[in-house]
Amino acid sequence: MIRGDLNDVTIDRVVEFSGPIRTVAEVLPDVPAEFWRAHEESFVPDYWDPGTDAYLANVQTWVLRRGGLTIVVDTGIGNDRSRPQIPVFAHLQTDFLERLSAVVRPDDVDIVVNTHIHYDHVGWNTMLVDGEWRPTFPNARYIVPRADYDYFHPGNESRMRAPENADEKRRFDGIRLVFADSIAPIEASGQLELWTGEYAIDDAFSMAPAPGHTPGSSVLRLATRDTRALFVGDMLHSPAQIMRPEWRSSFDLDAATARESRQAWIAEAARTGAVVFPAHFPGPGAALVGPDGREGHYAVTRWVTVPPGSLEGSIT
Ligand SMILES: [Zn+2]
Repeated sequence: MIRGDLNDVTIDRVVEFSGPIRTVAEVLPDVPAEFWRAHEESFVPDYWDPGTDAYLANVQTWVLRRGGLTIVVDTGIGNDRSRPQIPVFAHLQTDFLERLSAVVRPDDVDIVVNTHIHYDHVGWNTMLVDGEWRPTFPNARYIVPRADYDYFHPGNESRMRAPENADEKRRFDGIRLVFADSIAPIEASGQLELWTGEYAIDDAFSMAPAPGHTPGSSVLRLATRDTRALFVGDMLHSPAQIMRPEWRSSFDLDAATARESRQAWIAEAARTGAVVFPAHFPGPGAALVGPDGREGHYAVTRWVTVPPGSLEGSIT
């Protein structure tokens, strides 16, 4: 039972989407093609489909409970959205909210953490009710990095760097819709809480910056006397980036800064024995990492399995 490692913290995982997204070469352009094959046992069947070269990912939400506090980390894509930048996730009608509600009643959520403002991390911040976007978690504070709020705010478009290709242009244009349906309504309801620097939620949970993927990308750190975990959002898209933190994902807005963040946070995880929870890993869901003998290279030393939608939150 690895649950013992996390002691008094209960962790549940609710999966909204699981499947192929583009190819590994498109999502992780720095990874040499032969690396996937050479380390096939690390990537098959959960992270790479060698038959189609597809990159495999989940979109999922972590539900954390400790003492009387309930935290939801990243809120997926959401239903009913107009998403021309990513048509496969537009106008979804999934049962995600029912499955989340089987784990925790939305009214009982105290804190919603958006690790960053991308469509697949803020969607269920809200839901469409009688033609209006309403907060899904009526009693929660929504903790959002100010750097992303400022960068993606429709009033600050001049801050955004120019898109480098048509795909980026579509995604950059789409952020206006994301802001309007998933961020503006929680600001209007008075539930939005922006943070900078380091931000303590309580004596165990805190937010810390991990910029690069987006300017405000962040890590939720859990640190108690006996328990360490890092919810790293989109800092990692593949175990290949644990093995070689210098390798970018094509979704990183500032690849050089994202690389520095990854290198620093993986080093911390290896040093402190923190369980690493990336946003999009299918399969077990979380990992312990350690050095693999060469400077700057790491390995997954143990996978930590969090069952999807588990009611008990057991970690085995
Ligand atoms: Zn993401």
